[in-house]
Amino acid sequence: MEEYKVDQMYQELGLSGEVIAYGRQVEDGLAERFRAIDETAEYNQIKVLRAMQKHRVSAEYFAASTGYGYNDSGRETLEAVYAETFHAEAALVRSQIICGTQALYLALSANLLPGDELLSPVGKPYDTLEEVIGIRPSAGSLAEYGVTYAEAALLPDGSFDYEAIRAAVGPRTKMATIQRSKGYASRPTLSVARIGELIAFLKQCKPDIICMVDNCYGEFVEEVEPTDVGADLIVGSLIKNPGGGLAPCGGYIAGREDLVERCARRLSSPGLGKEVGANLGVNRDLYQGFFLAPTITAGALKGAIFAANLYERLGYPVLPNGSESRHDIIQAVELKSPEALCAFCEGIQEAAPVDSYVTPVPWDMPGYDSPVIMAAGAFVQGSSIELSADGPLKPPYTVFFQGGLTWYHAKTGILKSLQKLVERGITKLP
Ligand SMILES: *Cc1c(COP(=O)(O)O)cnc(C)c1O
Repeated sequence: MEEYKVDQMYQELGLSGEVIAYGRQVEDGLAERFRAIDETAEYNQIKVLRAMQKHRVSAEYFAASTGYGYNDSGRETLEAVYAETFHAEAALVRSQIICGTQALYLALSANLLPGDELLSPVGKPYDTLEEVIGIRPSAGSLAEYGVTYAEAALLPDGSFDYEAIRAAVGPRTKMATIQRSKGYASRPTLSVARIGELIAFLKQCKPDIICMVDNCYGEFVEEVEPTDVGADLIVGSLIKNPGGGLAPCGGYIAGREDLVERCARRLSSPGLGKEVGANLGVNRDLYQGFFLAPTITAGALKGAIFAANLYERLGYPVLPNGSESRHDIIQAVELKSPEALCAFCEGIQEAAPVDSYVTPVPWDMPGYDSPVIMAAGAFVQGSSIELSADGPLKPPYTVFFQGGLTWYHAKTGILKSLQKLVERGITKLP
């Protein structure tokens, strides 16, 4: 009886029979959904494979370059592979881009000039962008450079407020920033199809508006990306989906060639652009991670859906809910109390392959406006394609759960989180 054998392993990890059995019940109901996820992963796997073959990726591209990094064909080909996969004219894929926030700052600051206006037609952007844009005053913000900002909130039902958007688009509106994932907000994540509708509308209002999509956590969740539906730029982090768990750091920008070129010039300098940037030996990890990314994303997605169904049945509000379609790998669970939020994160931490013995505590993270508790025991520091959970310590004490390099690990983490809630008497199994 294989099931009993694995149960014993789970028990050694500290899970009770009751929690294991409950998890199995939930999993049994998800076969159809998991099959659909596997089909998307299969499609995306071939998409990446084709791009690598077409651009004749070769082992010599994995060699380290140093210094200026001139003639780094490995770096150039990797950028061509990203561009090909995302059906974009060009891409900038660099370990020198520290994280997603910097990639977004780069894309915005490279393409907005003093007097221009940036519009967010989907409401408040991700927390760390508030200081980038200057919504919260900050040294070095776009606002300091004379770039203004306008926002159109989503309607209460999550749909686009087309009237408000049309009213917000003016002669100075140069760029729109569209966040695909909900981030720390409680609104639905946008499907690529909905992003396409929004872009079509924006272009109708102003044909030359540059539409940038914050694609963080969205890559490979669907068979299409925002660049397939009119996005001029997509931006993301390599320690999320596209790095496949292997990229040690980095970010990417893909889209229209002229806009990407400006980003490269902003990153290095005018006159140097994409021609420089030593890879220092990370190329193989970036290639291999991108190759694995469709499958890794699929595992994370299964984890998110499992968590949604498991916690939904226990009466916790979950976003997205257990049955709706997915457009990113984030799962939000409203845990209702600081105790529950901390217990959940402690469970995730205990399930980690690295630092499983430490206890996460809330702290004031740079870029966030309230203390945040984060659980992660990752091979790559802060990598959120690896099993991780975090949430701001403010009502309704929502935890944002994501990642897991394998579905089995994601499942273990979720069961551990539930175990903690049960042990502390916060929740009862039916
Ligand atoms: C992760 C993320 C970012 C960027 O965050 P970093 O931690 O700087 O990589 C931006 N937007 C969204 C929606 C994100 O999920």
